[in-house]
Amino acid sequence: MPDQAVHLHRNGGSAVRYGNPAWEAARQSDLIDIRVDYANAKSLMRDDGHEFINLCSCSYLGLHNNPEILEGAIDAIRQTGALDLPISRIRLRLNLLEELEDGLSEIFEARTISAVTSSSATAGVLPLIASGHMSPDGVPPLMIFDKHAHFSMDYIKPICADETEVVTCRHNDLNFVEDACRKSPNVAYVCDGVYSMGGLAPIRELMDLQDRYGLFLFIDDSHALSLHGVTGRGFARSCMPEVNHRTVIIASLGKAFGGSGGAIMLGPTRSEDILTRFGGPLAWSQGLNVPGVGAGIASVRLHKSHVLTDLQAALQRNIALFDELVPNDQAGNGFPLKVITLGDEKKSVDVSKRMLERGYYTSAVFFPIVKRGAAGLRVMLRADLTEADIRNFAATLNETIDEFDLAEAGAGNAA
Ligand SMILES: *Cc1c(COP(=O)(O)O)cnc(C)c1O
Repeated sequence: MPDQAVHLHRNGGSAVRYGNPAWEAARQSDLIDIRVDYANAKSLMRDDGHEFINLCSCSYLGLHNNPEILEGAIDAIRQTGALDLPISRIRLRLNLLEELEDGLSEIFEARTISAVTSSSATAGVLPLIASGHMSPDGVPPLMIFDKHAHFSMDYIKPICADETEVVTCRHNDLNFVEDACRKSPNVAYVCDGVYSMGGLAPIRELMDLQDRYGLFLFIDDSHALSLHGVTGRGFARSCMPEVNHRTVIIASLGKAFGGSGGAIMLGPTRSEDILTRFGGPLAWSQGLNVPGVGAGIASVRLHKSHVLTDLQAALQRNIALFDELVPNDQAGNGFPLKVITLGDEKKSVDVSKRMLERGYYTSAVFFPIVKRGAAGLRVMLRADLTEADIRNFAATLNETIDEFDLAEAGAGNAA
């Protein structure tokens, strides 16, 4: 048997052991592996003809079927006459890709490069932060991961731990981070801007620690890009005057942005060359393909127009209305990600199943997505839902949860 050095940062065995039963329950209730087609712009249709609205789409601005973005993808293929330029970007890259990255750099006001997904961007960047190559000091930092950092970051921890010391802190634990900064001259903190299970990082306080101690920040802002900030630059970027040489922000372009791929916003240090040469999949794997690039260029155009501000405003109206109608822990924070905690895994699956029958897909979430005993429903609001959609959905959700609460109370009384 291997010694105790095993499972310092990951434990696949226990994740499957504790996590898989709930997936099985979800499958028995036909809540996963559902095959669908788009019924229309807003609804999906299951193979048996049942139509429903997906309330867990990451397309927060409803740009997934925007005609200009679709045309952008098609035009790019026509213009290029190829699906891809299949060679590492370090050696050869299409002018079209350069055009996209210039456009992204302009709207995010930071040098931005693309990747095939934000997960591959993270896999490329984090180990180079660990080895000290992304910061001006060039020294491997003590690396602190927030306990709730997204899977895509958590997954790379063991690779980072092979380069430097890696620790995990409690969620948003600024005291822990400051304490580390006092003890060590080089500290990097890895977090989400907006967390997948709701809630925000204290970006301004982290910037303050950066000012005082030189803290390096890696922030995944996938859930805020496009839907928040001037020209859709996201939550984290909006909290800072510039992306400085001690900050990297990454985000998915496959969510509110309405395209595909990932974006890496870099500071003025010339870390880009090291990143594209030594950043794992950024160097060896495929980049964004031609339709992805074309869609992205079209989306950048929309981000510079009133289309973006109109959609951002529509999303805010839907969020405010939902918060008024359904109590939730994230109410008032201005972001579309909601977790309605129900506690019990079976109840979450049952409520989700009933909601689907009634025309709305909400994901039941359970360990290891959320901590054990905190199962519930994840709801993601969108700009392309009407006021009536939100009102009907909220009423259905409240009624359904009430029914289950009443049944539980009844069972309690009978016992
Ligand atoms: C969705 C998501 C990702 C994954 O994005 P891809 O571009 O699909 O790899 C990464 N981080 C966070 C916080 C996400 O929500």
